[in-house]
Amino acid sequence: MKGRKNPPVLYIVIPCYNEEAVLPLTAPSFEQKIKELITLNKIDKNSKILFVNDGSKDSTWEIICDFTKINPIFKGICLSRNQGHQNALLAGIMYAKNYCDITVSIDCDGQDDINAINQMVDGYLDGAEIVYGVRNRRKTDSFFKRVSAQCFYKLLNVMGAQTVYNHADYRLLSSLVLKHLEDFKEVNLYLRGMIPLVGFKSTCVYYERTRRVAGKSHYPLGKMLSLAINGITNLSVKPIRIITTIGIIVALISFLGIIWSVISRLTSNTVAGWASLTAILCFLGGVQLTSLGVIGEYIGKIYLETKARPKYIISETTDDQE
Ligand code: UDP
Ligand code: MG
Repeated sequence: MKGRKNPPVLYIVIPCYNEEAVLPLTAPSFEQKIKELITLNKIDKNSKILFVNDGSKDSTWEIICDFTKINPIFKGICLSRNQGHQNALLAGIMYAKNYCDITVSIDCDGQDDINAINQMVDGYLDGAEIVYGVRNRRKTDSFFKRVSAQCFYKLLNVMGAQTVYNHADYRLLSSLVLKHLEDFKEVNLYLRGMIPLVGFKSTCVYYERTRRVAGKSHYPLGKMLSLAINGITNLSVKPIRIITTIGIIVALISFLGIIWSVISRLTSNTVAGWASLTAILCFLGGVQLTSLGVIGEYIGKIYLETKARPKYIISETTDDQE
């Protein structure tokens, strides 16, 4: 192994929202993993599991607090309200960065294979600052989830937001990357797109994604779409360029239409063109409204960015309780 001398302190960061059914099932496996890696001398013995309670309405936070009382390998932070997965994740890794050399972010539902953490740590020990967890296949996802996810990545890339294909938020980040990620001040978060922009040496680890062990997904179609729109508008202005291009093309076609109608009039070959006129009007109305919507989306983003509201507020931590 090159580069790194001492085993790093690892924090596994796990955002949780209404996960009382899942946590008692998956927490022991995270604990096992940390212990295994410490025994293998791949990570430091001060490594921890950090749960982020994202304003859950059920007993998730109480469960987290109970864990930390039984075993100090567990830690928890509680956000003042539900801020969404991306913000909860950022809260966790930014909190962890003060205590550790590397973080691995993972969902708490057991869908991502925790054994990939071994290879992630190896990747770091070999000199990578970022290790992306990439899904091999999506056999266990429902047909709808699989197709919508594939479309999501394709759309993002076409729209100019470069992301790692089939990579969600399962990744290792070194403290160096975390330090620079802190300088990205945007309020509208899309971590999958932001991390590649930080740069540094990166590598991928492939794993199988399985079913949720309990509970249900928090990403129905509506939330998936909003994540996709966020991803595109946060990282690229390509949609605005596409609108401009469509505008120019439509204008050119209309110009040809004008010439055609003038010639038709002069050759007195005019017929009552009500249907075609209505169709053209409706089409242009639609194009204009869509364009305004896209531009409005960007203006809305600018509005929120200028407010620079805090991305999350930590209301309490299990460290305070000690
Ligand atoms: N999550 C969160 N805040 C939210 C929604 C989800 O912290 O507002 C967490 C959730 O507890 C889980 C992870 O984000 O650990 C991914 O959510 P989920 O499993 O529902 O998404 P999917 O795997 O279906 O895409
Ligand atoms: Mg999940």
